[in-house]
Amino acid sequence: MKTAIMIHGGAWDIPASLHEAHEEGLMRALEAGYARLRETNDAHATCLSLLRILEDEPAFDAGTGSFLNAEGEVEMDAGIMSGEDLSVGAVAALKNIKNPILVAEAVRGNTQHVMLAGEGALRFAIKEGFRRVETEELLTGREKERYLALKKRKNVRIKSFFEQRPSDTVGAVVLDGRGRLSAGTTTGGTPYKLAGRVGDVPVAGSGFYADNRSGAVSATGWGEGILRAGLALRVMRAMESGREPGAAAREAISFLKSRINGEAGVIALNNEGRAGFYFNTPCMAVGYAGPAGIEYVRVIRRGEQEI
Ligand code: ASP
Repeated sequence: MKTAIMIHGGAWDIPASLHEAHEEGLMRALEAGYARLRETNDAHATCLSLLRILEDEPAFDAGTGSFLNAEGEVEMDAGIMSGEDLSVGAVAALKNIKNPILVAEAVRGNTQHVMLAGEGALRFAIKEGFRRVETEELLTGREKERYLALKKRKNVRIKSFFEQRPSDTVGAVVLDGRGRLSAGTTTGGTPYKLAGRVGDVPVAGSGFYADNRSGAVSATGWGEGILRAGLALRVMRAMESGREPGAAAREAISFLKSRINGEAGVIALNNEGRAGFYFNTPCMAVGYAGPAGIEYVRVIRRGEQEI
């Protein structure tokens, strides 16, 4: 049985000056994830640890390094899914927690629910033993500067961020040697979003999906469009009807573009370990490790993507 890991670090017009930081962050996570998968042969545990490491990388908009909303707060969304039993854990608009993906996993494992949001999610996290952190601890200088610059502007058109501006959400899909799949995505959302805004990331079928019978998917990009398209489930459906992962991703993104004029990127694995991705933003940051080790970690430009 083949094993495979695919991760992403967002899809937008990533400037050349940031390529190295993205590639280094993805490489550190992928090295640790690959070692973890060899050691445990457990797709879900590997997916969770990859997402936690990516949240801790300040180059990405997830956990530490999250964008600030219009009120100058960090509100994060995260979701994770096991393809074994289709169990899901998710948090939405969660503040004051260093690793939202770990809280999402606690929702999956320790509650009868799929998603907790806002204050209730924070209270649950504290009860589960997570430490409350101040917003300041999650900020990097970059995010504060971005927030102050946006605050001066009258109209902020959020969708334009994916055509030119940051979207450094992170995601992972993993297949282990026992044929189990897992997928997850975590984000600080879009810069300058309204307080309480929830995007695609914590919603199974939009921001991620996994089913051992077919494959696993994680998305990034303009969340409102991804939600309206049910993007991850569209990729799953295409894989279920026999499409290769890259072709399935392309089909879903072309629907997103033609119906909603959306911008996004998707990574996908099928249950035989074949991997693919597709995006219609200017660039996407992706990494892939097969059974023999890491094969690539790169910021890829549109037009360079192979399927
Ligand atoms: N999809 C995320 C959101 O809309 C943003 C991103 O992927 O960067 O919250």
